Amino acid sequence: KAILEIRNMSKTYHTLDGETKALYNLSFNVNHGEIVSIVGPSGCGKSTILSIIAGLIKPTTGEIVFHNKNKDIGYMFQSDHLFNWRTIMDNVLIGLEIQKKVSDESKSRVSNLLDTYGLGDFKNHYPNQLSGGMRQRVALIRTLATEPDLLLLDEPFSALDYQSRLKVSDDIAKIIRQEKKTAIMVTHDIAEAISMSSRVIVLSNRPAKIKSIHDIKLTCN
Ligand code: ADP
Ligand code: ADP
Repeated sequence: KAILEIRNMSKTYHTLDGETKALYNLSFNVNHGEIVSIVGPSGCGKSTILSIIAGLIKPTTGEIVFHNKNKDIGYMFQSDHLFNWRTIMDNVLIGLEIQKKVSDESKSRVSNLLDTYGLGDFKNHYPNQLSGGMRQRVALIRTLATEPDLLLLDEPFSALDYQSRLKVSDDIAKIIRQEKKTAIMVTHDIAEAISMSSRVIVLSNRPAKIKSIHDIKLTCN
């Protein structure tokens, strides 16, 4: 039931001033239906992992095996990347437009998602008429619109203030579970990682670059 296997992955960036070992001998699995968080201080390679999984860069060594039927990967970023001149409905349809999959069926599916997750009354509003938390919900629904099995979330709440983060992160985790998606989230907020995910992977860069990876299995209910 693994949807993704990462085996002995390393990544070294070569630059003019030398090289940076961003990842060293990293291995982990992600199972179907899990929300896995990757936490660690900045510079320890979290974004590098997501970029490799997304296929944006290649690992230096090691391999990555996908077992998802639908190869689509959904990406959700720090900032919501909504277009302020498009309505909420038209923002959510962007991914489907790019893939030329806009149809009556896909439109009504997306419209139902907005209804289900409390945005039904805002379809014809513009992003700047919504709160930050609502915009992140719209961003997630836009990501879900193309029906990816696997979601990659890169610090999705860092643009929100601390009070709304708690509620919004909870809402987002509920939507991911309800839609039966698998997600990998990168964050530097350990509390957020623990409250949202079934498993937390901690990347450590002490004493030098990454030396160890601990896979914490949370067993509390
Ligand atoms: P995090 O997301 O945990 O902050 P990153 O994956 O962004 O960590 O970076 C890991 C390390 O790799 C850092 O030392 C960073 O400076 C370096 N790095 C990241 N991207 C590049 C790049 N394109 N070229 C050179 N070095 C990079
Ligand atoms: P969130 O926690 O999702 O950021 P808020 O706490 O800011 O949401 O808002 C709570 C509720 O107030 C929203 O679910 C929505 O029903 C309503 N709301 C927020 N912003 C607006 C707005 N600009 N216009 C109308 N209603 C709004």
